Amino acid sequence: MSTGPTRVLVLNSGSSSVKYQLIDMRDSSRLAVGLVERIGERTSRLKHTPADGESRERTAPVADHEAALKAVAAELAEDGLGLDSPELAAIGHRVVHGGLRFTEPTVVDDDVLAEIERLIPLAPLHNPAGLAGLRTARALRPDLPQVAVFDTAFHTTMPESAARYAIDPEVADHHRIRRYGFHGTSHAYVSRETARLLGKDPSEVDVIVLHLGNGASASAVRGGVCVDTSMGLTPLEGLVMGTRSGDLDPAVIFHLARVGEMSMDEIDTLLNKRSGLLGLCGDNDMREIRRRVDGGDEAAALAFDIYIHRLKKYIGAYYAVLGTVDAVAFTAGVGENAAPVREAAVAGLEGLGLAVDSGLNAVRGGGARLISPADARVAVAVVPTDEELEIATQTYALVTA
Ligand code: AMP
Repeated sequence: MSTGPTRVLVLNSGSSSVKYQLIDMRDSSRLAVGLVERIGERTSRLKHTPADGESRERTAPVADHEAALKAVAAELAEDGLGLDSPELAAIGHRVVHGGLRFTEPTVVDDDVLAEIERLIPLAPLHNPAGLAGLRTARALRPDLPQVAVFDTAFHTTMPESAARYAIDPEVADHHRIRRYGFHGTSHAYVSRETARLLGKDPSEVDVIVLHLGNGASASAVRGGVCVDTSMGLTPLEGLVMGTRSGDLDPAVIFHLARVGEMSMDEIDTLLNKRSGLLGLCGDNDMREIRRRVDGGDEAAALAFDIYIHRLKKYIGAYYAVLGTVDAVAFTAGVGENAAPVREAAVAGLEGLGLAVDSGLNAVRGGGARLISPADARVAVAVVPTDEELEIATQTYALVTA
């Protein structure tokens, strides 16, 4: 470990929120965590929690991401953790879309900012927020390394056979249409932590990672390298999610436009915001869906079954892509907490060497853990994700290299 500054501020700028954590890289401890939400609205709220003090909440309008970051800087300064601290080694920024160019965490300069801007058409809701965070942080501390960590980077190792859609390559290349994948920071972290749980080096294990949160994606990771993932050009492809449909026949869109007379914007909203679990049964929180299933609610039961059916198909597909599988790892809000989802996803896959021990599966909380029987051919694991720590780790490694 370097003898220089050891703290990294991680900024995760969403379309209307900024989440942040100040992490001491000597022991991964959080010195402060917080978020600003409802940016641009009159009811903006900031919540800041220092490691050794009470949480503070402020509700006052925060006009934009620049104002949000300045408010965060002021909160940190109040605890003696301001951006001017000599202990601060770098700021690590989550940037959703890195296209094909950004395959690694990258120190930001004018050229990098321009390229992230050029990628906005591929991530119109997310990249502008990331850019605003980067620009403001640079203005506040021009001398400090600002590192962009891309959600797509971990997936840039996918072979062309997995990354390309079966359409005219000229059309695809002209419009930069290919499968980029998302949640890469989480897939990278969880696949590595799964190897650690098995007592092996990441290069020695083949893992299927199931990141099941409100957004959801699966990945096939061979020896630490991503070879396939379920999200595509955008985060709409793949698994059934909280509000997104995941895979569907693309002709559904033509049908809705021609026969349903819906506009492209209406279809976009339908598939991204009013589909998935929410669209199927009116709820997107797995806790509520399970309560309804247990109470005999048919719509919730069907939504759950559709969710599990798709998940199983991806487990089977990625088993075939990998050839051999050492572990299946569940992560994110649903994957870490919903035992019935884990049990149902693996049920009937004994022929593939997959099973869960119902006693181990029912245990709540705790860190990374195995939930498969001791003699299972394939380990099934719950591995809590930690995207902020992964961003901080990649950032710190880059600036101390
Ligand atoms: P994330 O996007 O990773 O924050 O995950 C959010 C989702 O996790 C929520 O929408 C819930 O569906 C799910 N979730 C969180 N806690 C639980 C729990 N205890 N049991 C089941 N699902 C949960």
